Order: sequence, then structure tokens, then C-alpha cells
Amino acid sequence: MLYEKELKTALAAVRKASLLCRRVQKNILKSQVIEKQDHSPVTVADFGSQAVISLELLAAFPNDAVVGEEDAAILRENSALRLAVSELVKEQISTADASQIPDAIDFCAQDTDFTKRFWTVDPVDGTKGFLRGGQYAVALALAEKGEIVIGVLGCPNFQADGQESKGCLFYAVKGQGAFVQSSEGGNTRRISVDAITDPAQARFCESVEEAHSSHQDHQRIAAGLGITAPSVRMDSQAKYAAVACGQASVYLRLPKSRSYREKIWDHAAGAIVITEAGGKVTDFQGKALDFSLGRKLENNAGILASNGRLHEKALQVISRAILQIALSELKIRFTK
Ligand code: AMP
Ligand code: MG
Repeated sequence: MLYEKELKTALAAVRKASLLCRRVQKNILKSQVIEKQDHSPVTVADFGSQAVISLELLAAFPNDAVVGEEDAAILRENSALRLAVSELVKEQISTADASQIPDAIDFCAQDTDFTKRFWTVDPVDGTKGFLRGGQYAVALALAEKGEIVIGVLGCPNFQADGQESKGCLFYAVKGQGAFVQSSEGGNTRRISVDAITDPAQARFCESVEEAHSSHQDHQRIAAGLGITAPSVRMDSQAKYAAVACGQASVYLRLPKSRSYREKIWDHAAGAIVITEAGGKVTDFQGKALDFSLGRKLENNAGILASNGRLHEKALQVISRAILQIALSELKIRFTK
């Protein structure tokens, strides 16, 4: 089967990284959270998870490029942090050499030709959810010529329907369907989006973080679509997993600022899991997400993910809502 070795490697890497994150989430102290330059939080789990995934990919595919969220600058300056990270990594990869860990992390921060083959990793997507004890995801995807061909989402706190306890691994390969299994790798089953066509029966999800997308605009869009249920708020790409397995029908992400461009690792794995589960993912204009332009989705604004059946109607409502938002911004500017 196409991409067999890639999928096996990606699943093993995400499983190990998820285990590492699980261990950290149980015991993390406030004092272990570091603020990055952009004021977002980073923890030993972010560094450890990226190191594990990078080392596993390097061992299996030494010629592949990897693009990740983190770099090792903070780690190189802080020996206590370096030690903590290397102990966590060694629990997952006993042969890992502590001196190679910063390089393994920085391997994911190199210049990359995004039009060719590359992996992209978000070692802890939804770090704020991770710190709250809520949803987060270890996200890994493989892109070829700007298109995602494999996506793996480790969701240690997600409980799929029919599962006895929390902990899911979602994955998809282009043309081969989408699947969920337990974090440990058991009970694999195919997943599909729901068949809801009546918005009155639909639920939509959005970020917990108000700063990441506009709850107010989402509410307006959902009401315009005819969704009456309150939103399901969830951190991370667990939202993609929720739509892919039918726990929600729509995921809305309307940026708060017009200039914000989404990062590729925040969407690559989730997007293919939904499309292979029978759903649809576009930007707010209905354009496909273009992963060939660099570390950001430069040519896309907003994200709409759905069960497919509600997609066109949602796009129509969104275009009206965006027009209204633009008009009210103009009004504010001219009445000031
Ligand atoms: P979520 O948990 O869905 O809110 O998404 C978490 C992701 O939001 C993080 O991985 C960040 O890359 C991303 N993010 C950070 N700031 C913003 C922002 N201002 N707008 C949209 N996404 C953001
Ligand atoms: Mg992220």
C-alpha cells in the first residue's frame, strides 16, 4: 500500500510523543511554563515531543525535510531545561543522545522547499488546553507538492464514541480513509463525518481561546445557518477530530485580525483526517488550503471544516457575514 512505511513511522512517532505529553501534563507545575517571544506558552512537552518526532523521522527518512513549530534557542540557554527534556525523550527513545536533542529540534526549523515533500509537526497543538488539563493534540502530517497525503493526530484527552476511556489516535492517508484507534494502538476503526443536512440538528465547534478566532462572529454565522445548539469549545486540532468522527458537523475559525495567517502545522493533519472521513475543509472563500507557500497558509483566510453536506450553505452565510463585518468596520471608521 502507498505510504505504508511513512504511516507506520508517523503513528509510532506520534504515539511516543503523546505518551511523553501525557506524563508531563500529569505533573506540570506553573513554574515549568516558559513564555516565548510572542507571549505564547511553551513547556518541556513541546520541546520533548518535537525532539521525539524529529528523531523518529530522521531515523526512517533521513532525506526528508521536517517543519515544526518550535526551535531550540531557549533550550540551548537553559541547562536544567535541557536535562529535563532529554530525560523525557530518553523514556521514549532509550538510544537518544542528549547532546543531539537541540539539533533534532532545530532540524525542524530549517529552510524548506514547500513545493516538494516535507513533514510538518505541531508537537503540542493547543498548549493552553494542555496547561488547563483540557484538549490538545500532537499533530504530524506529510505534504507532497503542497497537498497533505498523511495526517496523524494524537489526542490523549479525546474520547471517541464507544471508547471506554480517554486517549485517541486519529489518522488518514490520501485515498485510504480515516481511522481512529486508542492511544495505545488498539481498537482501530474507520470513521466518517455525520450525515446531518438540517442545521437545526447540527453542532459547531470553535476554539476555547477568544483571541484565536471571533466567538461573536461565529455565533452570527451559526445563527444565520440555522444552528441552534450552543458551540462546542475545544482547544487544538481535536476540533477536526470531533467533526471527522461525527461529534460535531462544522468547525468555524474566523480570524480576529484581517492580517493573521494560519500556521500550516495547525491544520495539515486535521484537514486530511476530515476529508478522508468524507468531510470538506476550505478557507472562508471556499478555496482549498494551499500548503506549498511556506510556514503559513499565505493564500487562505479563515477555516471552514464541515461534514461536507452543510459546506456550501455555510460558505454563503459566511460571505454575507464578512460583508456585514466589513461594512460595520467602515461605519466605525467614518463615525469616529
Ligand atoms: P486553538 O487551540 O484551536 O485555539 O489553536 C491553537 C493554535 O492557535 C496555536 O497552535 C497557535 O498557532 C494558533 N494561534 C495563536 N495565535 C493565534 C491567533 N491570533 N489567531 C489564530 N490562531 C492563533
Ligand atoms: Mg498549534
